[in-house]
Amino acid sequence: MIDIKELERICSEAVTVHGPEKQMNKMQEEMNELGLEIARFPQGRSSLNQIAEESVDCFIMAYQMRSVVGPELFDKWLAFKMDRCDKRLEKYRVK
Ligand SMILES: [Mg+2]
Repeated sequence: MIDIKELERICSEAVTVHGPEKQMNKMQEEMNELGLEIARFPQGRSSLNQIAEESVDCFIMAYQMRSVVGPELFDKWLAFKMDRCDKRLEKYRVK
C-alpha cells in the first residue's frame, strides 16, 4: 500500500530542491519513455515490467506536478476527472 503522505513529502521536496522548470522537463522525459515502452510492447520489444517501471516514473513525476501547480488546483482536477471517469463507466455496470 502506498504511503500517500510519504509520497507527498518526497515529491514536494524534489520540486523544492530541483525547481519546477527542471521537474516539468523531467515529467516530459518520463512520459516519452513510457510512450516508447508502450509502442514497443506489441512487437515484443518491451515488457510489462518495463511498462510498470516507466509508469511509476510518470506517476511520481505527475505527483510532483501537484507541487508545481499547487495541491488545490491539482486535486480539483483529479476529483473532476475521477468523477467523469466514474460516470462514463456507469453504462458498463451490471444492475
Ligand atoms: Mg524512466
